[in-house]
Amino acid sequence: MSNSELSPERRAATLARLARTDYDVLVIGGGVTGAGAALDAVTRGLSVALVEMRDYAAGTSGRSGKLIHGGLRYLEQFDFGLVRESLRERKLLLTDLAPHLVRPIRFLYPLRHRVWERAYLGAGLLLYDTIGGAGAVPRHRHLSRAGVRRFAPGLEQRHLTGAITFYDTQFDDARHTLELVRTAAAHGADVASAVKVVGLTKSDGAVRGAEVVDTVTENSFTISAKHVVNAAGVWTDDLQEFAGEGAGFSVKASKGIHIMVPREKIRSDVSLFVRAEDSVLFVRSWGAHWLIGTTDTAYTAGLDDPAATAPDVDYLLRNVNAVLETELTPGDIDGVFAGLRPLILGHADATSKLSREHAVETSVPGFTTVTGGKYTTYRVMAADVIDEVAGALRKLGRQVPESRTATVPTIGARGYAELKASEAELAAESGLSRQSIDHLLGRYGSLTRDLLSLIADRPVLGKPTEGAPGYLLAEALYAVTHEGALHLDDVLARRTHIAIETRDSGVAAAQTIAPLVGEALGWDADRIRAEIHRYRTRAEAERAALVALRTATADGRDPLQQTANGVER
Ligand SMILES: Cc1cc2nc3c(=O)[nH]c(=O)nc-3n(C[C@H](O)[C@H](O)[C@H](O)COP(=O)(O)OP(=O)(O)OC[C@H]3O[C@@H](n4cnc5c(N)ncnc54)[C@H](O)[C@@H]3O)c2cc1C
Repeated sequence: MSNSELSPERRAATLARLARTDYDVLVIGGGVTGAGAALDAVTRGLSVALVEMRDYAAGTSGRSGKLIHGGLRYLEQFDFGLVRESLRERKLLLTDLAPHLVRPIRFLYPLRHRVWERAYLGAGLLLYDTIGGAGAVPRHRHLSRAGVRRFAPGLEQRHLTGAITFYDTQFDDARHTLELVRTAAAHGADVASAVKVVGLTKSDGAVRGAEVVDTVTENSFTISAKHVVNAAGVWTDDLQEFAGEGAGFSVKASKGIHIMVPREKIRSDVSLFVRAEDSVLFVRSWGAHWLIGTTDTAYTAGLDDPAATAPDVDYLLRNVNAVLETELTPGDIDGVFAGLRPLILGHADATSKLSREHAVETSVPGFTTVTGGKYTTYRVMAADVIDEVAGALRKLGRQVPESRTATVPTIGARGYAELKASEAELAAESGLSRQSIDHLLGRYGSLTRDLLSLIADRPVLGKPTEGAPGYLLAEALYAVTHEGALHLDDVLARRTHIAIETRDSGVAAAQTIAPLVGEALGWDADRIRAEIHRYRTRAEAERAALVALRTATADGRDPLQQTANGVER
């Protein structure tokens, strides 16, 4: 395997290679679907390029509910096949592919009715545990009212008859997508962010590559490939238009939001699974916060920066407050983020492989779209689309083996268990606290060694980041030297989650890390100031909108026009 470092120098070398190589496959989109497809293709021995117009996971993949789950609601719909597939993926990710990023999380489902609800849910969870496989996560457990008081004293107890607890898994979505990209790069894929596809090239009616712009330098060039994969999420239709032929389906966006409230606002040792008016809500622990979501509303505004509206926030608060002893107020909200689900709409004459979950379609020779689905099953989607590509390449005389990603761990997973076992020694050697080592292992897995060697060379990097003390300074530098970050936002919103975990949206931390980030990216003093200004302006607009949202939600005013980034719609 080659180097997985996504450094600024490597980006420059990659751009030069992208312009002169004829690849087997070009993947458009650096979300989990594109990253998974690139990894699937490169580990089958294909030459692969991947381009992302902004930052890896800057689309939906960094704004998800952060659960790798079987989907209890699919069980209710008797969709056992989908549940089985998702739980198989959950087990693989948890035990083999990314154990450092995925961890079991215990949910409590409050019961309000006497016998039938416990029997109904208990039977469902027994099935869920059985399908999930022995030992993947602990099994569900029944609790009496006294048990609920012990685990979740913050729940409103009067109407409760008891509860059932069960396990699913939680993960860091943006870091996982990034690791997939780096793993693909380690296997030889050429990957670049801030490279936008602005057109497709064709020859004899087949797509043979893409016209792209490097958004850092504004340079345009062409990437040649025998096959192009469109993994552009909610931007799928734009790429389909470049291909110029009628696709069998189109993609519409539906919006979901999450809010973050401090842990002390809900007294509970476990996460909560709450029935909402028309769906379910997850209230799960996320560091020093509870992460609460989600909503599901039609969305037609701009795709780049979706925002929460006051009715979205109101919906979450209303439904979660229905089960809490002490109600949350809009003022309790520290952070909010919104994401867009790519939903597939089939045309009447669709000939594509169209399922409720995901779709793979070759609308023009040499051009295949993959979209829909959910994060949990990204690997299945990736294998499906590369199977389709393999079929096309076979017609050109190229033999392509089956997918092998079920046995390809991410780079941070290799050697993780051994390193985790030597946590105490690592702390002693590095001079960092056990807590810091644990934090690094849970975010970087075995790549923790890279960070420790940065700190060994420059001990100041082992210090907490002013403005976001949960993160070490080394993490900001590493984001640029190894993880492809090009802007402060990449570091604060996706390599770390400082942007949503701090009450000032990371403004103070931006000030602290800018010189470090700038040093690695070759910024001069003016550029550093400009980058801080750019970050602060955006963060402050978001804060102002959040304050307005809080006020609008608290007042019960008609806040339909109010959004969390201040954009009226
Ligand atoms: C609120 C919410 C909660 C969710 N929660 C969960 C959950 O808990 N568990 C779960 O399993 N799933 C969940 N999902 C679903 C899951 O997040 C998505 O299915 C998944 O992230 C989609 O990934 P993607 O790669 O297809 O799209 P994206 O992540 O959006 O990636 C597409 C990428 O293509 C890039 N792109 C677009 N156009 C171009 C171009 N012209 N040139 C170059 N690049 C381009 C974009 O910048 C983007 O990064 C949730 C979704 C939402 C909205």
